[in-house]
Amino acid sequence: EDVVNKIAAGEIIVAPVHALKELIENAVDAGSTSLEILVKDGGLKLLQISDNGCGINKDDMAILCERFTTSKLKEFEDLQSIGTYGFRGEALASISHIAHLSVTTKTADSSCAWKAHYASGKLAPPKAGQSAEPKACAGRQGTQIQVEDLFYNVPTRRRAFRSASEEYNKIAELVEKYAVHCAHVAFSCKKAGESGAGIAVPVSATVKDRIRILHSGSIANEMVDVEVANEQYGFKAKGLVSTANYIGKRTTMLLFINHRSVDSSVIKRALEQTYSSFLPKGGKPFIYLSLDIEPNRVDVNVHPTKREVNFLNEDEITEMICDEVRVKLGTVDR
Ligand code: ADP
Ligand code: MG
Repeated sequence: EDVVNKIAAGEIIVAPVHALKELIENAVDAGSTSLEILVKDGGLKLLQISDNGCGINKDDMAILCERFTTSKLKEFEDLQSIGTYGFRGEALASISHIAHLSVTTKTADSSCAWKAHYASGKLAPPKAGQSAEPKACAGRQGTQIQVEDLFYNVPTRRRAFRSASEEYNKIAELVEKYAVHCAHVAFSCKKAGESGAGIAVPVSATVKDRIRILHSGSIANEMVDVEVANEQYGFKAKGLVSTANYIGKRTTMLLFINHRSVDSSVIKRALEQTYSSFLPKGGKPFIYLSLDIEPNRVDVNVHPTKREVNFLNEDEITEMICDEVRVKLGTVDR
């Protein structure tokens, strides 16, 4: 059974960035306004994420890493509204099967923090001979998750990684996306042991500030707001897109559907097509788009490693977004 769990986990989490995505989403779901991420060896040695969210009750710590443990489904009907999440209550369980996982957490009404280690879905002693029970310790409200030695027991997976810096680049790209989108959250992301600032965005920064800090001032200065909604198709889209004055070498697309970072080649291709009549040949746009779509219209079976999503009336919604971009680009002075 353990082998089956390990294989299943290795399919949900194929690279460190997939584990981190789940951990970022958990921290944001917990109402955090600050996320600090520390990475060693591209995330293979260590992924650490500290948040200041609601924390986890000590009584819930024993079952935290069992499959389908989630505080986010109150009723069966909620299954209908899980939308783009695709799967529930599997992230921490999966990670515990393929890494050394420890959790330190404190809720507002607990007098101390609690720390626990997990292996294969269960509480585990930090060292042989020690107790597996959560240990009281000092700490602030919030949760710190440490994922160490990812894939230590999946040698084939581990061998597939060519370079730590390649894995770190994927991590940085993901963090930058969430740091633009979650405009009420401060983000930091660093490689352990390096003195550089890494990624750092203060809580007060607006979406435009965040694009300026993480990408460049010349992009941020050339962004216009887009906003379009349609009741029949059950969607609202908001975002910032580059004007014709910005000419990128490749398309940068920060796409969120129901607050999850996803890919949509349909939307991306259509927008590139739209821009092609505004930009010189080969020039590419910078696009940040946040779509809210009624959850029952989004394919719930998206796998976390396949970030490509599908939703109803994809063509109509895409066309409406492109129309809005066309209008906004047409009204901007060159
Ligand atoms: P899901 O997010 O689908 O519920 P996970 O396995 O990712 O499943 O997490 C399981 C549960 O652990 C969550 O429902 C939540 O109650 C709790 N949890 C995980 N991470 C955090 C966090 N950073 N802060 C507070 N609670 C958390
Ligand atoms: Mg989760």
